[in-house]
Amino acid sequence: MRAVVFLAFSILMAVGSIARPAVVVIDPGHGGRDRGGIPGQKLAEKVLTLDTAKRLARTLRATGDIKVVMTRDDDTFVSLKERTNIANQYAGREAVFVSIHYNSGQREGAYGIETYYNGRRAYRLAALVQMGVIQAMHSVDRGIRQRRYRVLRKNRLPAVLVECGFLTNHFEGERASDPNYRQRIARAIASAILGYD
Ligand code: ZN
Repeated sequence: MRAVVFLAFSILMAVGSIARPAVVVIDPGHGGRDRGGIPGQKLAEKVLTLDTAKRLARTLRATGDIKVVMTRDDDTFVSLKERTNIANQYAGREAVFVSIHYNSGQREGAYGIETYYNGRRAYRLAALVQMGVIQAMHSVDRGIRQRRYRVLRKNRLPAVLVECGFLTNHFEGERASDPNYRQRIARAIASAILGYD
């Protein structure tokens, strides 16, 4: 199964040209009074999304030719409207939007990674992200999905939202608590963005 995923990923990477997005808007989910997750959840989603987003930003900035914009870079509350307003300033440019989240479920057993997208152009980015992340993290593939999240719906950029694992699952929550996990997932998302045109 992994070989198939890898093959599909390689083909997608091969057909992509070297034109990368000039601007990447990174959106760390939640923040401030919005902790994310479900009530009583032990791990604060907002902390892990910010850390993962910063790692992604660092990796992309290291390429030297990508402008990285963060919708927040500390523990403050930013409304969904403000987030899309920031993104939409870059409409018409070679820009993409990537929102970073961690998942939660009422069912402790829920586990794995999924990616949402907002339109035809974003689907390709979502596919690159999802395949790259699954390959790097050896996680359960919950698929590429469409849901009318506000940050996606009101976004004029090709926009994806990555649910980087379930904090309510004991095993995956423990994995996500490890900085190495967040570094690896950030690097996998960065590679997918670099392969997108
Ligand atoms: Zn979230």
